[in-house]
Order: sequence, then structure tokens, then C-alpha cells
Amino acid sequence: MAELDNTLFIREMFSKFYSENFNRIEIPKSIENREFGFTLFRENVMIRHKSFSRADDLRDFIKKSVPSNAYYSSAYYNMPEAKMDEKGWLGSDLFFDIDADHIPTKCNKEHDSWICKSCGFKGRGRTPEKCPNCGNEGFEEKTWPCEICLEAAKLETIKLIDILLEDLGFSADEIKCSFSGHRGYHICIESEEVLGLDTFARKEIVDYVTGTGIDVTLHGLNEVRSRGSRIITGPSLGDAGWRGRAARGTYDFLLTATIEDLRSLGLRKDIAIEIIEKREAILESWRGGGPWSVISGLGVKSWEKIILHGLSLQSARVDTVVTVDVHRLIRLPGTLHGKTGLLKVSFPASRIEEFDPLKEAVAFKGGEVKIYVEEAPEFRFGDEVFGPFERQVVALPIQAALFLLCKGAARVVD
Ligand SMILES: [Zn+2]
Ligand SMILES: [Zn+2]
Repeated sequence: MAELDNTLFIREMFSKFYSENFNRIEIPKSIENREFGFTLFRENVMIRHKSFSRADDLRDFIKKSVPSNAYYSSAYYNMPEAKMDEKGWLGSDLFFDIDADHIPTKCNKEHDSWICKSCGFKGRGRTPEKCPNCGNEGFEEKTWPCEICLEAAKLETIKLIDILLEDLGFSADEIKCSFSGHRGYHICIESEEVLGLDTFARKEIVDYVTGTGIDVTLHGLNEVRSRGSRIITGPSLGDAGWRGRAARGTYDFLLTATIEDLRSLGLRKDIAIEIIEKREAILESWRGGGPWSVISGLGVKSWEKIILHGLSLQSARVDTVVTVDVHRLIRLPGTLHGKTGLLKVSFPASRIEEFDPLKEAVAFKGGEVKIYVEEAPEFRFGDEVFGPFERQVVALPIQAALFLLCKGAARVVD
């Protein structure tokens, strides 16, 4: 059985895609002011500081050079090809990255693993910041775009879109959504209003959408004592901004909270039991002034803990580093992801609920390729489910085979 070079095969598929679908490559606004970057299959280095004055030049370049990954700058520059400090920064789109890597799902222990590049120490689940064995920071990572993780990323994206629309006042057509082609979503806002924001302003926006540093006593939680009795007031479900989110997060949390959940916030056992016992009354109370005085032993300090946990459920987990970086290179929509062979696809924010990444990011239809799969959990593309596979030869549709090859979980056979 003669083995073909995996990389050659992947490159051939990417080349086929770009020659047939070069019109799908999306051209960023003011292309002449953007910096482009690419990784090529042959040399595994990033080519940066490229620029193109016309859409056709960019498409031709991608068609001819067949990059494994293609990026553009969220920034606009006077001279995109110049050295970083000589480019002449003109402004930058407001960009958010939501990636399953930053969302703690239970399944990541099953499908994600890492190996320290320095000492070979291995682990499963989320990659640590530093190797627990040698303290170095470089890792070889294996992650998997599983359905549960993709759903978790989508939920964060839905929360982010809601905050952008309701609180920050962007309109739906300003919010450009895309699936990254791997494990997450991107949101890009190209409005005039955001272009000139510096790193600090962007950090404030991140703090806002992540609900960082909120003082709930400034959001309606209050205690009034009169003639020996105590009345606690708090936010209402219909309130605007984070005040309403504080109430809705608290509502959601108390709807299903267990004694253990409440105890883990530091509440006393008898109080936790009372909350569970009075769940119906708590839910009922939201129609009036809220549950703040329903549990007699529960004071402002304890409510604060509950509300803060509710807030954390409402916050959108975005990658801070990406949003505050005004020179960031971003994957170009309409190009293939080198780690999956899936397409980065854009879609209107209004479609987020119904969007199915494992259907819409499929770039290749039909075909069949024989591959040897080392190990892969069950996965789906469109309506078809594949695997699980373990040390076996299988014939798969091109997209499924390409995906496993890109993931390094398989090799091509004759
Ligand atoms: Zn190590
Ligand atoms: Zn998962």
C-alpha cells in the first residue's frame, strides 16, 4: 500500500476549491488599506505585510499560491506593506473572537489533549498556561470541534449579539457574524464609530460585554431597615442593560439550582435548603417586586453572591486579547481553515439561532477518498454522521476525509 503525502493531498483539495470557488472569497472593505497574511503548505511560516489594491489581485494570489490559511488585518493602514511601526494606522474594525478553547465544557476532557513541547508532559482537557511539570509555555495541542463545544460557543455569540444590539446600540446589519471554520465564531463591526477606538476603549467594551467589575449594589440591590424590619429590593426582569441581566441571570440560576450549586457560592446549608423549598414562591415573586424578601434569612451579602453568579451566566465569554489588539490579523471569510478543511463562512446576525456550522461550512460536496484513520470520535457534516474510527481504513466523502487529514488523525492510502 503506497502512501501519498497527506500535505500534498490537502493542498490539492484546497487548490481545487479555490479554482472553482474564488468568488466566495470575501473582499474586506477598503481592501487597499488592509494588511494580508498567509501560511503556505510548504514553508510553515507566516507571510505578512502583503497588500492588494484590487479584489481580483487578492483572489488570483490565493488561487495561485493556495495558502493553508489566509488572514487580513482588522486595521486600516496608509501603507499596509510597510514595517509595523511605519504602516500609518488609520483605524480598526471592532472584532470579537469566541472560541470553544475559552469555554469550559465537560466534554473537552474527552476530545482535547496537549503535550508540552519541552518535556513531553501530557494532559487532557484545556491546555494550561504553563506546563505543570517544567513551567514552559509551548504546547502541541489537539482540539476537536465537537457539537457540544460548538453549541456552547454559539450560545456565547448569541449573548454577545444581544448586548451589542440592546446595550451598545449597534444595528443588526452592522454586526457581521461568521463561523471560524474550527471551534468558534467571529463578530466584526465595521462602523465609522468604532474605527478610531484605541486599545483602552476596546478593553472597556470587553469589560462591558463580559460583565467585568459590576457592583450589584449600583444595580438595584438595596436594603432598607425600618422599625426593626428589613426590606430588600433588587433588579427586575424587564430592566434595561446589566440591571435586567442581573435579574434574568438570577432567575435562570434559581430556576434549576441545586443545594450543591448554592453551597458552592458560599451560602449556609439551611439557607440553601430553604431556597430550594421555596422555589415556587421565588419564581412567583418575579411578577411583583422580586424574590429579595422571600427567604427570611437571606441578606444583601448573600444575594450579592447569587446575583453575581447570575451575571456570569449572562456575560459573553470573548477572547479579550483579540478585541483589544488593533493590529490583529483575522481569518479571511470565504477561505479554508488549515486545521479542518472547513470554510470560514459569514452570515447575518439574525440567522445565528438557526445557523448550523457543520452544514454551512462544508466546502466539498460528494467524492470519496480512502484514508487510514488513527483515531477519531464520532462527528457529523450536514445530515451524515461518521465514526467513531480507530486504526482502520475507511472510504469517506472528501470533506470528512479532508477534515481528518487536516486534524492529523488520518493518512491517505492508495
Ligand atoms: Zn513541560
Ligand atoms: Zn466538546
